[in-house]
Amino acid sequence: MARVVGELAVSGSNKAVALAEDLVDKLIKEKGEDFKIGFPETGFYLPLIYATLGKEVQTLKDGKEIVGIARTLLKKVPEGDKWDSLLNDAMDSGVACALAAELIEALRYATGELPQEGWQGFIPDSILRSLGIQLVDGRISGVAVIVGAAPESKTAVKIIRELQERNMLSLLVGSASGKNFRDQLAEEGVQIGLDYYIVPVGAETTSVIHAANFAIRASLSYGGNKKGELEKNVNYCKERVPAVILALGELDALKVAAACAAIRIGFPVITDQKVPEIKETPFTLHEALLSEPDYSKIVSTALLAKGIKTKIKKIDIPVAYSAAFEGERVRKEQMYIQFGGKYTTAFEYVRRGNLDEVHDGKVQVLGPEIDDVKEGDALPLGILVEVAGRKMQKEFEPILERQMHSFLNEAMGVFHMGQRNLCWLRISKDAYKKGFKIRHLGVILHARIQDTFGAIIDKVQVSIYTRGEDVERHIAEAKKSYEQRDARMAGMADESVDTFYSCTLCQSFAPNHVCIVKPERPGLCGAYTWLDAKAAYELNPVGPNQPVKKEECLDSVRGEWKGVNEFIYQSSNKTLKRFHGYSIMSYPETSCGCFECVVAILPEANGFMVVNREYNAMTPCGMTFSTLAGSVGGGAQTPGFMGIGRLYIVSKKFISADGGLKRIVWMTRELKEILGDKLKKRCEEEGGPGFINKIADESVASTSEELLRHLEKVAHPALSMPPLM
Ligand code: SF4
Ligand code: ZN
Repeated sequence: MARVVGELAVSGSNKAVALAEDLVDKLIKEKGEDFKIGFPETGFYLPLIYATLGKEVQTLKDGKEIVGIARTLLKKVPEGDKWDSLLNDAMDSGVACALAAELIEALRYATGELPQEGWQGFIPDSILRSLGIQLVDGRISGVAVIVGAAPESKTAVKIIRELQERNMLSLLVGSASGKNFRDQLAEEGVQIGLDYYIVPVGAETTSVIHAANFAIRASLSYGGNKKGELEKNVNYCKERVPAVILALGELDALKVAAACAAIRIGFPVITDQKVPEIKETPFTLHEALLSEPDYSKIVSTALLAKGIKTKIKKIDIPVAYSAAFEGERVRKEQMYIQFGGKYTTAFEYVRRGNLDEVHDGKVQVLGPEIDDVKEGDALPLGILVEVAGRKMQKEFEPILERQMHSFLNEAMGVFHMGQRNLCWLRISKDAYKKGFKIRHLGVILHARIQDTFGAIIDKVQVSIYTRGEDVERHIAEAKKSYEQRDARMAGMADESVDTFYSCTLCQSFAPNHVCIVKPERPGLCGAYTWLDAKAAYELNPVGPNQPVKKEECLDSVRGEWKGVNEFIYQSSNKTLKRFHGYSIMSYPETSCGCFECVVAILPEANGFMVVNREYNAMTPCGMTFSTLAGSVGGGAQTPGFMGIGRLYIVSKKFISADGGLKRIVWMTRELKEILGDKLKKRCEEEGGPGFINKIADESVASTSEELLRHLEKVAHPALSMPPLM
């Protein structure tokens, strides 16, 4: 039986390589060998080929070379009937199949056959990075690649709901017996898309390669591994990328070959079909190939095989609850009731109370409940959360309050946007039908705050006001508190504290990377301010956020402290010796891979440009965000280039040692808009009135020449500053 599978793997790989060759030859005839091929929005060419063979495939000619290499990996039908003797040959063939599949997909892009409507196709670097952050902070616990289809659509829904409840991201690929998983979900009205942790990748089996080249890019951009470092890249996938393959429905030769390739790069394959199991390989952490015909067990079997731990949150509400529903929208037609937004007055406010006044678990709705209103109505809303605990500090209030957004959003059928007195909530008709009440918002908040912040909080009580006069009365106090908080944070400077906080959360992906989070420099992912990191430390004293005593200041201009240097040396596995917190030119802080923006030097302009990850087009430095990101990530110091959180741009310490904001000659328009008034104010302070308009954006320049013309025309200050190099 193992032999049959081995034969299938080899014949599938042969077919794939032959198909790739045919396609390349045909295209060369039509377009010539210099015709460009590649995937959209990536700095890694054909990532799997790039990572394993070190080849930068850019033209059909390069593609032809890959076909040749794949051919050498193809094995004859292996001898024997035991996995031991078959394994290596079958796996090598699998790799040949993967190389061919990646090439085939790139060729399908070249001919315009891809992307296909309703399928993601290649996953761009920007999505990889945002998913990376969610994997690091635990919002996503892993990735399930579903190849094929369930026997019927109801089973598909059961599988996907279990994956969602376990915060697994599902990538859907291919079909079985003429059905595909995406259509099965759509038939049952399941909402599909990245926001729901469900991404249909491609209708053909070869598109499974986009799951593989997604995983291998994690190694390249977070692991600090280089192109061509086959074993290092593959090992990274085995050890650090929490992905599994669920192969559902009939297996053909191509699927078996793809499964072998998946196993070779460290991902276990679980199928509902009868196959000879492989319990152990040098390539996988645990089991490599398992048969699980029971659909109620298939997800947990798969997770166990890769050692993925998930936590199902049990909260006493009548709808499903998981991070997978955080991005879910409730559209007007689906809505039963709404609060806030532009419709009514609303606020949410977390306040520290006294231990003897706060009653844990008390949730009250003061005013109309959902049953008292008509479908489509809007009510005023005030959510007052009172928390008490011996370790609860006033300054943690905003941190808890900010979490309300995801806590509420994770309930299926609840939509939440904004914060403070700018919040907006909707409850769907479906949730209402299932028995969801306004009171349940309080139940959720109580449960999640207790669960997440249990280390500092003992009691949580929630009062929900839905009568206009009550809301008005309480909003006044809330607003006063919002203002005080803003004033407190704005008044904080790096000089006013003696301790910074580290963040090493990203070390699970970028083993040598450390963020030093300061009052005036947030973590580069944008998710951690100094206060957040401080709170996180108090919540979990042995966690990834540790206090870093500044100790002796070695250089106040560049931002260098003895204590920081010592800390990064130890926690970067002795790869980093010095950090200059305020410089991009000397000992810049490192980047893991999840930065919101990249700052890059433009020597000809004597300044820097900033590009945010959402921006896909070319920038004046001649690289796109993706390409730039590829060269800054992985925890290495690259003077002149740096990943940052976008709020750092409006900090007084923004590359202050190199001239600060006045050095910025180009930034995307989107970034200008996001930073809005804060940026205007900082520009005035640094460069005087009108300086903000001297900073070019894509409407003025997207090449270096256009940029220089603009800078000279407006007499940008960077031109007359001391030379950078
Ligand atoms: Fe990763 Fe730095 Fe953000 Fe921490 S602060 S999650 S280490 S990017
Ligand atoms: Zn990171």
